[in-house]
Amino acid sequence: MEKSVHRPTAWHVTHWSADPFSLGAYSALLPGGTRQHRSDLGQVLHERLVIAGEACDTRAPAMTHGAWNDGQRAAKAAMAAGARKVIVIGAGCAGLAAAQRLRGQGIDCIVLEARGRTGGRTHTVELGSVKADEGAAWLQHFAENPLAAIAQRQGLPCIETDFSRPLAAASDGVLPDVEGAWAAFIERVDRQLPLSEAISGYMATLDPAGVRATQFAIDANLVLEACLPVTQLSVSALDEEGVGHGDRMLPGGYSELVDVLAQNLDIRLNTPVTHIDWSRAGVRVNDETCDFCICTVPVGVLKTLHFTPELPETQQRALAHLGMGKLEKVILQFDERWWPSSSSGYLRWYDVPASWGEWLDLTDAVGKPTVAGLIAADAIARQFSGRTDEQIAMAACEALEAWAAAIGPTP
Ligand SMILES: Cc1cc2nc3c(=O)[nH]c(=O)nc-3n(C[C@H](O)[C@H](O)[C@H](O)COP(=O)(O)OP(=O)(O)OC[C@H]3O[C@@H](n4cnc5c(N)ncnc54)[C@H](O)[C@@H]3O)c2cc1C
Repeated sequence: MEKSVHRPTAWHVTHWSADPFSLGAYSALLPGGTRQHRSDLGQVLHERLVIAGEACDTRAPAMTHGAWNDGQRAAKAAMAAGARKVIVIGAGCAGLAAAQRLRGQGIDCIVLEARGRTGGRTHTVELGSVKADEGAAWLQHFAENPLAAIAQRQGLPCIETDFSRPLAAASDGVLPDVEGAWAAFIERVDRQLPLSEAISGYMATLDPAGVRATQFAIDANLVLEACLPVTQLSVSALDEEGVGHGDRMLPGGYSELVDVLAQNLDIRLNTPVTHIDWSRAGVRVNDETCDFCICTVPVGVLKTLHFTPELPETQQRALAHLGMGKLEKVILQFDERWWPSSSSGYLRWYDVPASWGEWLDLTDAVGKPTVAGLIAADAIARQFSGRTDEQIAMAACEALEAWAAAIGPTP
């Protein structure tokens, strides 16, 4: 099956969708879902339980700083309830934010974390001498990002990337004006309809060239962002915040930042929570008791936890409208940079059907020829099913080669 000419010297393939403590990459609005469902999920319950994390943040959902801000919100709720002992479930950005805020106020707080490490959906892996992120890689909306401020205070290098100028190519011919097609679609699509109906109605008004450009735009700007097929997304997903506002990446890896966020906290690793009994004052979480519990597990995992009593109807309805988007990454390292380099470091591949649509050239940032490719939604099954990690990495390498061939000699 191996057809690629350039063999990577090292590679890493992620499996967030199968990871029992994430069950996907990040939250997305399912059909009928709105921002209101995100805030409903995060309502404080009986002054003793609150759900928090990226899924509950309406301003930066699905992002690390959204998780951080929501963890802070949850900590404030615990303080407002007069809590003296708090259990935080999960040591990702939200859980660490909550625990740091509470610690700063002198409130007794323990963090129960299922994994043997902190950071949740941020995690840096090492390929030889190079560090690369298998989860979040960018600090988005850098200017107003509280995690960016912490990274800067710690002197962690942050490198600007420009998502507006990708080096892009299409597998089936000349590249159309994808961004123009997206702008027209966003302006004219009928937001009163369910998303897939709205898309087919809009496509019916276009000629074949318009349909092709719009399909590329939807693959790149919606499916690769929200990480679910359009049939499983709300029309409101079109209006959620995403990448592209002064984003910067951490060449030393997110884990360096997470280590700072986790400093001086009482974190119990390898402690998966299965049951939360909030039926009375004195919430029980596994065998521990507290007077306020902050639960920051991803929404996919939240749906599997056992609550006594069950979560109220409002939260159940909210959960029914939130799902986990699927996004995976491959990191490939080579002895030499054989692909065309782009000044933005950002590469796009409009494959038919979609495959590894987005690539970040990490070479300049990490000092060794390295790229990270992203794949989302149902393209994952097409590329992953029945393959070993090595086969997945080689297939991704073929996609990068096809992109490079379509680009031609370095512009
Ligand atoms: C491939 C990928 C790329 C991404 N790229 C970006 C990006 O570039 N920029 C960005 O801002 N965001 C990005 N994100 C999203 C970002 O990583 C998340 O939004 C953010 O990390 C979520 O933080 P959180 O604290 O809400 O959840 P998590 O980080 O998931 O933390 C929840 C914690 O709960 C733990 N847990 C789960 N189940 C249990 C249990 N039963 N008992 C105890 N603990 C449990 C988990 O192990 C985890 O540590 C990306 C995510 C992925 C997967």
